[in-house]
Amino acid sequence: MIPVSAKARLTVDLAALAENYRALCRLAPGAQVAGVVKADAYGLGVARVAEALHGAGCRSFFVATAEEGAALRAFLPPGSPALIYVLHGFAGASPRDLAAQALIPVLSTPGDIELLRAHAKAESRALPAALQADTGMNRLGLPPAFLEAGPDLAGVSPVLLMSHLASADEPDDPSNARQRERFRALKARFPGVRTSLANSAGILLGRSYHEDVVRPGIALYGGNPLPGRPSPVHTVVTLEAPILQIREAEPGETVGYGGTHRIEAPARLATLGIGYADGYLRSLGNRGRVMIGGHAAPVIGRVSMDLTVVDVTEIPESVARPGALAELFGPSLAVDEVAERAGTISYELLTRLGQRLARGYPPAPNKASPARRHGMRP
Ligand SMILES: *Cc1c(COP(=O)(O)O)cnc(C)c1O
Repeated sequence: MIPVSAKARLTVDLAALAENYRALCRLAPGAQVAGVVKADAYGLGVARVAEALHGAGCRSFFVATAEEGAALRAFLPPGSPALIYVLHGFAGASPRDLAAQALIPVLSTPGDIELLRAHAKAESRALPAALQADTGMNRLGLPPAFLEAGPDLAGVSPVLLMSHLASADEPDDPSNARQRERFRALKARFPGVRTSLANSAGILLGRSYHEDVVRPGIALYGGNPLPGRPSPVHTVVTLEAPILQIREAEPGETVGYGGTHRIEAPARLATLGIGYADGYLRSLGNRGRVMIGGHAAPVIGRVSMDLTVVDVTEIPESVARPGALAELFGPSLAVDEVAERAGTISYELLTRLGQRLARGYPPAPNKASPARRHGMRP
């Protein structure tokens, strides 16, 4: 077997994830903190992420599709009362499919309301659903006017009224307050129904945005909801790759496909075993940087499918040597900085991490590891 140290690897710190969950609970006192775990928990692996969040006390989850919801249900402890909301409603799934896994549809179209009403009638009982209003994003949701007109909801038991903020990551954008006011006007029509408006960045907008349930995703996973400001959360994800080869390069030589980087002075180069197939985006060519033993090394030339070259001229030979690990992002290099250099956001960087990476999950807290049970320090 190939030793893991020879492969590019992704480490997900479940203890930090659980700590972030608790930090968000403190930031939104009085609100319930749901975990958004769509897209395989932003690429980190929903099985382990859901287990850790559940262990930290999370009892409401949001996924995008019914398939994601069914997978999540199986990863939660049997008999858990956790609520699972399906953001896409009945797209590609029937009310029967969702009910079989106790998944709650988020209804965003009159057609979805109609489907649930028909199913409720056939079952002769009211069925739970969330109602999503589009208060200004123009993406997914029912027009507030439609909901205010008192549509026929016979057989639908609304358990949550929700909406989504378009610009929560721009706290000074007046659209935030505008959406909040539209939402408030609407919720007056649904007394007794729990309400939800804020994603990660929305939590940081303050209490007037928290409503009853907040829906963080990226902040749980260590992304800074407001890049450029101090992060309220801990690093969760570390991406590392081994140095496969060190080489000397002379002035006039070029590096990589297309020779897009020209060597100006004698240089030492390190070739890393990671590329765009692993989610280290090609747009980081000649723009990214990595950390090796606490030293920064710039990416030079294009990122290729499986390899990336960095300049280690300034790093001691004892540190930048074959087999040493370079950090692509993690505790010494924020995922948000790397995303910005790549011309994107942390969300895209995380959800595009490749299947080839070796994935590791240090133990979650408040679950005694075998070492701890035997009184040893882990
Ligand atoms: C993805 C999503 C979230 C989570 O957003 P973050 O910015 O990752 O916190 C919350 N609500 C809805 C409707 C979403 O689609």
